[in-house]
Amino acid sequence: MADDHNAFITEATIDGDADADGPLADKTVAVKDNISTDGIRTTCGSEMLADYVPPYSATVVERLTEAGATVVGKTNMDEFGMGTTTETSAFGPTRNPADPERVPGGSSGGSAAAVAAGEADVALGSDTGGSVRCPAAFCGVVGIKPTYGLVSRYGLIAYANSLEQIGPIAGTVEEAAAALDVIAGPDPNDGTTRDLADVEGADPDASYAAAADGDVDGLTVGIPTELFDGADERVVETVEAAIADLEAQGAETTEISLPSVEHAVQAYYVIAMAEASSNLARFDGVRYGHRSESDGNWNESFAETREAFGPEVKRRILLGTYALSAGYHDKYYEKAQDARAWVRQDFDEAFEDVDVIASPTMPVLPFELGESLDDPLRMYLADANTTPVNLANLPAVSVPAGEADGLPVGLQLVGPKFGERTVIRAASAVEGR
Ligand code: GLN
Repeated sequence: MADDHNAFITEATIDGDADADGPLADKTVAVKDNISTDGIRTTCGSEMLADYVPPYSATVVERLTEAGATVVGKTNMDEFGMGTTTETSAFGPTRNPADPERVPGGSSGGSAAAVAAGEADVALGSDTGGSVRCPAAFCGVVGIKPTYGLVSRYGLIAYANSLEQIGPIAGTVEEAAAALDVIAGPDPNDGTTRDLADVEGADPDASYAAAADGDVDGLTVGIPTELFDGADERVVETVEAAIADLEAQGAETTEISLPSVEHAVQAYYVIAMAEASSNLARFDGVRYGHRSESDGNWNESFAETREAFGPEVKRRILLGTYALSAGYHDKYYEKAQDARAWVRQDFDEAFEDVDVIASPTMPVLPFELGESLDDPLRMYLADANTTPVNLANLPAVSVPAGEADGLPVGLQLVGPKFGERTVIRAASAVEGR
């Protein structure tokens, strides 16, 4: 396969079960390179794990191959999932199939590009603060970020545990939902997964793919002004046209307010970096991956080993460690947790009146390659609309809303906890515009 966009870090095959039937039989799947694959290196886009070969596969990979899907490779990503453009990868940037001079979004940029370029039918990404939805939006494909606890993370190399979920990316809402049907559900190896039989109002047997029926008659769509303010006008116009289309199909729209989301990016980055600094402490040269040649003392060897991290990862470990350190813990980490509780409460209140919440997925069009790399703050602010969803542990879909200046624009639909079927239904009414 010609990988013209550098979507893959490793091209390798894991055959699907030949006897399986169902929607994923004979489909190809590309897997983000922070999801473990037995016998196939899993790098997290980092020099640190460039030669790391896991001894087991993640639950999601097992479930996909049991359902008949064939893994075709491991996709490029921002190093350890830290980025919004796939440019922080140690394996070079991925190019956006919609415009090769632009980024595919991130951090699951390789996964979205593989699907957009037709190199895989379906792909898996992971979404800590938007990493499934952002690249789906930038590449003009569909991405689903499931409710926290719906999909097993056993075998996912952690970035920020309290925020992240694995989610599918595909060309259509129905295909992405069919992949979700396969990967969702409790896993004895991941204590954070929930059994829908224990969730009030949820139906453990209902199909996500079947919910992609395009029926939005009577659905109430909340429009939060805060998630439109400050967005690129071309993005806003395209998203508003898609929402008008939903209205034409019988949905009702109502303006809502989520005042807390103004603080979401700040709270998200404090929490994500704090968790990352702790998670990445395990890369010490003793247990996994790269090890320095140094025969000096422990401190020297540890420090030299960790030079294998790229600049964005180092920045986050430093800031995360700082935010957690004695004396600053209350000032940053606790405040961020308070903001998180407020975001959660805002969404809970909003869902008393509306079924789904619609906004642009990304407030900007895809960046040109290199454009945002020197300005981390600008990159972080691009996550304004996606990060609130992770803070509140909610499900969301990014679906193509149309194009602006020839570039894809994504519409984000957010639902209440375990309300995947509602957002899938609404998203399926948007596609094909
Ligand atoms: N862009 C966000 C970050 O850099 C989100 C990344 C993600 O979801 N993995 O943290």
